[in-house]
Amino acid sequence: MFTAAGIHWDPTHACAMIDRADQPKRSATERVADMLEIYALYDEETAREQASRCIECPRPACVEGCPLHNRIPEWLALTAEGRFLEAAAISRSTSNMPEICSRVCPQERLCEGSCILNGKTEPVSIGAIERFINEYAFRENDLDLAHPPFNGLKVAVIGSGPAGLAAADQLVALGYAVTIFESQVLPGGLLVNGIPSFKLEKTIVGRRIEMLKKRGVKLRLGVTLGKDISLADLRRDFSAVFLGVGAQQAKPLGIPGEDLPGVLPALPFLIQKNVDFPVLDMVPIEVEGKRVAVLGGGDTAMDCLRTALRCGASEAVCLYRRDLANMPGSRKEYANALEEGAIFQFLTNPLAIEADESGAIARVRCVRMELGEPDASGRRKPAPVPGSEFTVPADLVIGAYGFDPVPFPPGSDLGQIECNSWGGMVVDENQMTSVPGVFSGGDSVRGPSLVVHAVRDARKAVEGLHRYLSSKSLPLSLVPEKP
Ligand SMILES: Cc1cc2nc3c(=O)[nH]c(=O)nc-3n(C[C@H](O)[C@H](O)[C@H](O)COP(=O)(O)OP(=O)(O)OC[C@H]3O[C@@H](n4cnc5c(N)ncnc54)[C@H](O)[C@@H]3O)c2cc1C
Ligand code: SF4
Repeated sequence: MFTAAGIHWDPTHACAMIDRADQPKRSATERVADMLEIYALYDEETAREQASRCIECPRPACVEGCPLHNRIPEWLALTAEGRFLEAAAISRSTSNMPEICSRVCPQERLCEGSCILNGKTEPVSIGAIERFINEYAFRENDLDLAHPPFNGLKVAVIGSGPAGLAAADQLVALGYAVTIFESQVLPGGLLVNGIPSFKLEKTIVGRRIEMLKKRGVKLRLGVTLGKDISLADLRRDFSAVFLGVGAQQAKPLGIPGEDLPGVLPALPFLIQKNVDFPVLDMVPIEVEGKRVAVLGGGDTAMDCLRTALRCGASEAVCLYRRDLANMPGSRKEYANALEEGAIFQFLTNPLAIEADESGAIARVRCVRMELGEPDASGRRKPAPVPGSEFTVPADLVIGAYGFDPVPFPPGSDLGQIECNSWGGMVVDENQMTSVPGVFSGGDSVRGPSLVVHAVRDARKAVEGLHRYLSSKSLPLSLVPEKP
């Protein structure tokens, strides 16, 4: 039998008799021909069967491995019994967007990576089951649209990425009247203007935003805090503020040639190729038949390679200075990129981007690297191999070296918010910034991270915000009469 501490293998348990089945995946040839999601949903029978592989650990490691501490074994047990709507309701009790997290979380590093079955057999396919039960609930229209009566207080949320959306959802559930201010005309943050459709279709995000609107959340699009409105305006008109403004400023490549035409940052490229009505004022990027070099080894690099292949690139090459073991990108997405035809050149550090006589990009000059001792981050530090320079032919170069927070507009009153050396907002244990009543979370605090971390921060910030407002008797001027 299985026990909580040391597991004894029970050959009659479902996990010993039923193999893990991943979600059906479209063939690489089929999926590079469009931008649609690559995985299909389980059918009901498979969902039940796969959920039955869970051994219901008394101290579930999967829950610990999930940043939201999702009640995974509980909804797995219900799924195994075919009680899909109850399972979905439990999954929603700890997550504001389980249908999104189930699609984009790197489960192999989180819940599934922690599942106790690892090593004995394969982990429970938690992400696929979470996606199935939540899509089932959407199909059955079994959603939480009710909200408590207005509690008399208004809260402003800045940014409509996962942090802002999750904060708004939590605030409405506590009776606050919520207005989201978003500088883009398309809401969703990086869920829309970053993560490509083949990982997360835009309609899935749109559906979640519509739900928030039905629950009374107001959206003011095309409004930038620090430009169109000030922090003082918000503090006058709202009882508290949540800043979920992300970190979307591309890190520079820092090599000669980075200003050549044909060298692009990742986000404008991804937006132009993945969003139906991109609002960026930019010339069309020609990819058909071109050799595309992507610089960097994270999820953004993976997304750029796969997008380039879908846009007809003749070659999509990733140039990354460490090796596969030290690459930050998700292994699942790396495998998908490989299947779709991406080429990976590891231990390769770009030194310069070079043009031909006509001024068009021709190649990336690189040097081979070798890995030395681990650095402060624990990853092995790469060093150039003397005399190993070589070139990689390229017509288009996409930079994916990560992101920093966008600096506050000069002269804006946002400058009073304390930031750390790299521009991230400093928050206390309640996610409150140095300005009382102003909270923050997601990438704007922790730097480029994950959707699930943005959701977790937002939930924590709303708890702190609610405690803060509950403990305060507000001056009458801050208490609005109507939502
Ligand atoms: C290409 C790419 C792929 C990724 N893939 C994954 C993945 O597969 N899985 C995963 O978990 N994570 C992934 N991530 C990371 C994830 O998208 C982010 O960690 C997450 O979106 C951060 O959420 P956020 O709400 O903090 O910020 P964002 O999503 O960046 O949202 C911030 C919002 O604030 C708005 N804003 C900014 N400043 C202002 C202002 N002054 N006034 C008004 N509005 C403002 C912005 O326009 C934006 O809409 C990916 C990121 C990128 C770039
Ligand atoms: S999913 Fe894995 S870790 Fe979680 S309760 Fe089931 S068997 Fe245990």
